[in-house]
Amino acid sequence: MRTEIAIVLAGGEPAVWQRLMGDHVSDASGRCIACRVHGVGGPRWPCSLRAVAEAAHELVRSDRQMPADR
Ligand SMILES: [Zn+2]
Repeated sequence: MRTEIAIVLAGGEPAVWQRLMGDHVSDASGRCIACRVHGVGGPRWPCSLRAVAEAAHELVRSDRQMPADR
């Protein structure tokens, strides 16, 4: 499931996963700032959205490293 989302993100606008990676960062107590809701502690960082964004980043990077076959 997570991998499928990452593939979709990797195939779309880079700004989407770049934004996720920029927003979903750890706070001082190791919890995700973007997933925190109204002062309630977020999930432990990296949250699932961050993990998906990183997986998409990884896919895009490995695509770029593949030799062009044209
Ligand atoms: Zn998050």
